[in-house]
Amino acid sequence: MEKTTTYVNLALSKPTTEAILDKYVRHLTKVNFVIEFKAAILRNCTTERPFTDSTPLEIVTIEAAAPLEHEVLIRINAASLCRSDLSVITGVRAWPMPIVPGHEASGTVEEVGSGVTRLSPGDQVVLVYQPQCGECPCCVSGNVYLCEPGLAANRAGALLGGGSRLSINGEKIHHHMGLSAFAEMAVVSEHSLVKVDKDLKPEIAALFGCAVMCGAGSVINTGNVKAGESVAIVGIGGVGASAILGARLAGASRIFAVDIDRDKLQTALSLGATDAIEAGPDAAARIIEDSAGGVDCAVESAGIQEAFQTAYDCTKRGGRVVNLGLVNPSTLYSIDLAAHVTSAKSITGSYMGSCNPQIDIPRFVELFKEGRFPIEQLITHRMPLSDVNLALERMAASKALRQILSP
Ligand SMILES: [Zn+2]
Ligand SMILES: [Zn+2]
Repeated sequence: MEKTTTYVNLALSKPTTEAILDKYVRHLTKVNFVIEFKAAILRNCTTERPFTDSTPLEIVTIEAAAPLEHEVLIRINAASLCRSDLSVITGVRAWPMPIVPGHEASGTVEEVGSGVTRLSPGDQVVLVYQPQCGECPCCVSGNVYLCEPGLAANRAGALLGGGSRLSINGEKIHHHMGLSAFAEMAVVSEHSLVKVDKDLKPEIAALFGCAVMCGAGSVINTGNVKAGESVAIVGIGGVGASAILGARLAGASRIFAVDIDRDKLQTALSLGATDAIEAGPDAAARIIEDSAGGVDCAVESAGIQEAFQTAYDCTKRGGRVVNLGLVNPSTLYSIDLAAHVTSAKSITGSYMGSCNPQIDIPRFVELFKEGRFPIEQLITHRMPLSDVNLALERMAASKALRQILSP
């Protein structure tokens, strides 16, 4: 797609080239500028498939206000699709409309607002879908992935600093998870960004924002898997595949991969799973038999109740069950409480892989560079942003792990 970013001088009411802007006025009247660029917008949720026909996302020209205090203008270099994007499109999870989705991406800092000191133009950044205010009780206690103002801003379709910077002819457009990365550019809070090396490929950098933290983090941080332990990953999408890589990093001895799709099971084996188990009512019994009593830690990463049941059942007595997949919010789960007590299993929800992005992303990047964390294997497709509906359809048909969109 042709690059269409222009800066519009509101005082003159006409487009101004970046060169002129840099030379004469940009630094003086920055706050008076809006930035125009292409973005994929969702106005109405739909479950109608194929998405290549119903085209829920439309590529439009959108305007963003210049970054305010503690905000940053980013040029998106790579954005990838995550299964939770589907829940935005179908309305299974309710977001304010209209909205620009996209929560897994990397980009280059173009411009910083006042008060931003740790980032400069030219820096490569990973976009993180949960901003961390650094001041709320969750942030102060180290659980930054639970940041309360960050969550409240996300739910409102706003930035951490309040409100939206996106609009079309005066109509307010909402941010998705403080990012809205299915676009050529984004204005985000500096607290949604982690700086990474400039030489990291943008498509690799993008994966750290969701797939890596959620998947590998669920095993290493939430599940606290130790060397020699056995693990089951139930559901092999991009996040489940990342969880397999995380289990390898943690030194798990046996890694059971469970999925209904045989191709995905083959992928799981190529990523380092030791055993492929077809999903179904017998899956847990097979794992219990093959692991002599169940695994130390099972991760549910399919987002359906049956997968959670398999994960719970195949966990050994005293073991850990990690609940990672985002099920339909109306899903309830009943449990035999007496058996739960006597089996002494623990169940832990895993949001953002219990990661502290500023600490964990640089660690994962180092492990990638050392060749110990081959996340490039998660990328199955690459395409321009204009093909976003095709990518959605492929994701809905479970025919992709990670698909990279290039603006
Ligand atoms: Zn995601
Ligand atoms: Zn906070």
